[in-house]
Amino acid sequence: MPSMIYRLQRIIQEVSRSPDIQHALDSIAQSLIADLVADACTIFLATDDNPPSLILKSSYGLNPDIVGNVTRNFGQGLIGLVAAKAESINLTNALEHKDFILVPDSGEDKFPIYLGVPIISHRKVLGVIAIQRAQQVFNEDDEAFLTTLASQLATSIEHAESQGRFKLIGSKKLDSTTHVVRGVASLPGMAIGHALVLNRGVKLESVPDKKVKDSLPEIKSFDDAVRKVQEELTQQAERMRASLPEEECALFLAYAQMLNSGSLIDDTYRRIEQGSWGPASWRDTVEEHAQVFERMEDEYLAARASDIRDLGHRVLRALMLERDTPIDFPDHTVLVGDEITATDLAEVPPDRLCAIISTHGSSSSHVAILAHALGIPAVMGVPNLPVNQMDGLKVVVDGYSGCAYIDPDENILAEYGAYLEEEEVIERDLLSLKNEPAFTLDQHRISLYVNSGLMADYTPSLKSGAEGIGLYRTEIPFQIRDRFPTEEEQYHMYNKVLKTFSGMPVVLRTLDVGGDKPLSYFPIKEANPFLGWRGVRITLDHPEIFITQLRAMIRANIGNDNLQILLPMISGQAEVADSLELIHRAKYEIEEEFGHDIEMPKIGAMIEVPSAVYQIEDICSLVDFISIGTNDLTQYLLAVDRNNENVAELYSSLHPAVLKAMRQVVEGAKHTDTPVSVCGELAGDPLGVMALLGMGINSLSMSVGSLLRAKKVIKSFNLDEMEVMFSEAIMKTNPAQVRELYIEKLNSKGLGGLIRVGK
Ligand code: PEP
Ligand code: MG
Repeated sequence: MPSMIYRLQRIIQEVSRSPDIQHALDSIAQSLIADLVADACTIFLATDDNPPSLILKSSYGLNPDIVGNVTRNFGQGLIGLVAAKAESINLTNALEHKDFILVPDSGEDKFPIYLGVPIISHRKVLGVIAIQRAQQVFNEDDEAFLTTLASQLATSIEHAESQGRFKLIGSKKLDSTTHVVRGVASLPGMAIGHALVLNRGVKLESVPDKKVKDSLPEIKSFDDAVRKVQEELTQQAERMRASLPEEECALFLAYAQMLNSGSLIDDTYRRIEQGSWGPASWRDTVEEHAQVFERMEDEYLAARASDIRDLGHRVLRALMLERDTPIDFPDHTVLVGDEITATDLAEVPPDRLCAIISTHGSSSSHVAILAHALGIPAVMGVPNLPVNQMDGLKVVVDGYSGCAYIDPDENILAEYGAYLEEEEVIERDLLSLKNEPAFTLDQHRISLYVNSGLMADYTPSLKSGAEGIGLYRTEIPFQIRDRFPTEEEQYHMYNKVLKTFSGMPVVLRTLDVGGDKPLSYFPIKEANPFLGWRGVRITLDHPEIFITQLRAMIRANIGNDNLQILLPMISGQAEVADSLELIHRAKYEIEEEFGHDIEMPKIGAMIEVPSAVYQIEDICSLVDFISIGTNDLTQYLLAVDRNNENVAELYSSLHPAVLKAMRQVVEGAKHTDTPVSVCGELAGDPLGVMALLGMGINSLSMSVGSLLRAKKVIKSFNLDEMEVMFSEAIMKTNPAQVRELYIEKLNSKGLGGLIRVGK
C-alpha cells in the first residue's frame, strides 16, 4: 500500500482541483472508503447561520437519497457531538451510544463501528467526516489518518466551497446572492470598481477565465508559444548532452514530442474554439491530463503529473510573453491577485486605481501601506479569493469591515453608493481643516508629517497641509527598477523631493530592503527573512551601496538644507556608530569634491526592534532624533509576522505591551532631550493618535490619506484627557479592551464616522 503521506497528498490534490465543493466532497468520501477499507462515509458541513447547523453534503455506502436531507444542530446526534466538542470519537458500537440518532432508511444500522472527526479551520468547526464499518474496529492508524486529513482539508474545503459557490452565482446571476469574501485585516475606506487580475502568467492556477469571440488570434498565439517552447526544449537537450546522461536529455525531447500533436494540443484547440481564451484553455487541458496520471496507483506514473504541469508552465510563460501588450486599466480599477506587489501597484495609473484585494498579506504589509499612501482601501488576507474568476467583474470593497462583494446585487450597490456619499460628506468636512495647524483643544501644538516614497504622492502630500515628510521610504524607487539606481539617479530623486518640500523637513530613510521588501536584482534567500539580512544590516555589509546613497542624499541637500537622515532596523548602539562613520565619510568626500564645508544633516534612528527600546538612552546619545516604527516594533514585540494572514488577528499596535514599550522609549528619550516622532501606521489611526498623544508624543508622520482624520481627532480632545485615557489603556490586559476604550471616547465626541463605527 502506498505511504500515508502519499495517500494524503493524493486526496488533498484532488480536492484542491475539484471544480466545485460537491465534487470535492464526493471525491473525499469515495477515497476514504477505499483508503480506510470502510463501508460508509458521510460528510456534514456547517451552515453560515448563527448558530450554525450541520447538513449532510456527501455520502458513500449509504442510501444516496439522504444527501441534503439530514440536518443536525451542534450537540445533536453523534455528528453534532463531534462538532460541539471539536473532538474525534471512535466507537465500537455507535448504535448503543446515547446520542446516536438513526437516519431512517439510510442503511447505517448495518455499520455500527464508527469514527467521526471534526474539520476545523482557525478555531471554527467547518464540518464533520464520519466513516463506518460493519466489522473491525478503527485502530489508531485509521484515526491518525483521518485526523491528519481533516486538518489539512480545512483550507481546501474553504477554498473549494468559495469557488463552487462563486461559479454557481456567476452562471445563474442570482440577484439576491452576491459573493462575499472577508479578509483578516484591511485598510479603511470604500470603493466600487472593476476587478483587474494581473496575469504574471507564471502559475497555471492563477490564470483567469476569459471569454473570446474570435478564436483565430488565440490559436495563433498558442501555436507560436508551443513552437517557441519546442525550440527551447530541443536546444536544452543539445546543451545538456555534455553534462547529463542520455536518458535525462531524452526527457526534454519527450516533452518537445508531447507538443508536436496529440490530445494536449487538440483539446486546447477545442476549448479555444468553444470561446475560452488560450491561457485558460491550456490551463484546463494541462490539468485534465495531469489528473489522469495522478489517479494512477503506481507512484512512478502518478509522479508524471508533475512533468505535465511543468510543461504546462513553460508553455504558459511563452504564451503570456507573446501577449505582453499594454493593459487597458478601467477607470475604477480594483487590483486583484494572490500576491500583489509594490511593482503591480506602480503599474496602474494612480488616477484609475481605486482599491486592492489580495489573497495574502495584512494591513501592515508594504503593499497595503503603499495603497494607504495612495489613499485607497484594501482588503488583505482573503484566504478563499476566487482570483481566477474575477477579472472584469464589478466589486465593492469595504476596507472598514474587511469585506469585498463580488458581482454585487442592486441592494449592495445602493447601500454602498449611499455610504460613499456619506464618506464624501465627512471628507468635505475634513477638508476645511487642511490649512489649520493641529492644536489640541487645550492648545498643545502637534506636528504632522507625511510618509512618502512614490512621486505620485508628492502633490497630495503638499496639498494636505503637512509640515514636511516624516518618512521617505527610499527603497520604493529601488524596488521599481531592475538594477541599483546610480548616485546620479538618486541625486535627482532626492533633490526633487527636497526641493518640492523646500523649507520643510524631509526625512529620507536609508535603504530598508530585505524582509518583505525584495529587490529583484539583489535576491536574498533566507528561511526567516524578517529576522535576517534587512535594513541597516545590509547597508553596513555593503558600504559601496550605502555610501552611494548617502553621497546622493548629502549632495542633494546642498542648497536645500532640509534633509534629515533616518536609519532603519537599528538593533543596538553599535549599528548607529558604524552608520555615523560612513555618513561622516560621505560628507567628507563631498566637501573635498566641492571645496567647501557643508552642514551635517540631522541623523535619526528608527526604534522598531525591541532591543533598541532597552538601549534607548545609548542610542539617543548618538543621534539628533528618533522615530518609532510601530509596524515592525509590533511585529517583533508580539512575534507576529506582519504579512501572515494566519496570525493577523494577533497583530495589534494597540496591544498594551506595545504601548508600554513605546512609553519606555518616550521616557528614555526625555532623559536625553531627544525629539521623538512616530512614523508607523499607528500614527495615522484615529485610535492610535489618541494613544500616542496620551503617552507624550507630539510629532506624527502618516500616510497622506490619514492626515485630516488625525487632525480632527487632535482638535477634539484636551491633552490631559488623552493622558488620563492612556493611563487607563495601559492597565488593560489585551488590545480589544484598549480599542473598546478608545472607540468609546471617540464616539462620545461624535467622531465614530472617522473609523466607521457608530456615529
Ligand atoms: C515601521 O516599521 O513602522 C515603519 C515605518 O517602517 P516600514 O513599514 O517601512 O518597515
Ligand atoms: Mg520598519
